[in-house]
Amino acid sequence: MSDKPEIPVSGPIQPRQLELESKIRFNCYPGISCFNACCRQADITLAPYDILRLSRRLGMTTGEFLKAHTVPFEMDSHGMPGVKMRTRDEQPVCLLLDEKTGCSVYSDRPSACRYYPVALMSSRRADEYVDRQHFALVQEEHCMGHQEQRELTVAEYRAEQQVEPFDELNREYYQLILKKKSAGPAVGKPSPTSFQFFFMACYDIDRFREFLRSPSFRNVYALADEEFAPLLDDDIACLRFAYRLLRQVLFGEASIPQVAGAFEKRMAERGEVLAKRREMEIEQAKQNVPFERYIDD
Ligand code: SF4
Ligand code: SF4
Repeated sequence: MSDKPEIPVSGPIQPRQLELESKIRFNCYPGISCFNACCRQADITLAPYDILRLSRRLGMTTGEFLKAHTVPFEMDSHGMPGVKMRTRDEQPVCLLLDEKTGCSVYSDRPSACRYYPVALMSSRRADEYVDRQHFALVQEEHCMGHQEQRELTVAEYRAEQQVEPFDELNREYYQLILKKKSAGPAVGKPSPTSFQFFFMACYDIDRFREFLRSPSFRNVYALADEEFAPLLDDDIACLRFAYRLLRQVLFGEASIPQVAGAFEKRMAERGEVLAKRREMEIEQAKQNVPFERYIDD
């Protein structure tokens, strides 16, 4: 695999790859002629920490936020689930734009909004374990900020926009996506259940926390109480743990101890479910009705 950027970003991206020390000429401020034009043409892909910040800002659970403010999309041909900000039905105007005052969630705005017009590009070389981050400039006609005279480095722009905590907490998510991509056909297409689990762990942290409380997790994973307790009320700890569990479940990077015999017990239970399912299939086939409607897997 080459080290070409692997995370697609929509928009007219300039071909020049930028590094932290690269200079850009750009400024954006209330009063600029195009103020909020970008929020009226919003195509914002959300990462897990964006969802966490926005849902808490709006006083919603992550599930409520996902329902009210996002639309799902497929990140690759396998159907890897991603999430975008919902816009108005008739126009691509961000629902969080206040007509008079601008962004209604400014201090909690998503990472893509902070970075714009810089695009963050993650890539990973086949011979390296860690990902690399590069940048590119997005130049769109409606954005007058490129006509301004202010020059600054990408690093200075990142600091100004306070992207650091977002990058830090979203980075493992990008690494998971890259890892899945670089695994290629060797691992084949992940199952729908894997994608459902990925969706919950990355985007719906409140539901993920419910899962951690459930016997499905507690009977399988042997977490010490002092490690488990913070996951129940600390969103950041819970998100970091979600990434850790995803690495274990999807890529076999075992770091969470399992209850002795849990795997065998689970396989035996699974065997019983499969046997029951087979019986139902035969029964349904005899009656010539689709069995899916009758079984809750
Ligand atoms: S979240 Fe705020 S900055 Fe981002 S598109 Fe919406 S209104 Fe604009
Ligand atoms: S200068 Fe660009 S980023 Fe700033 S408000 Fe205008 S369109 Fe949006």
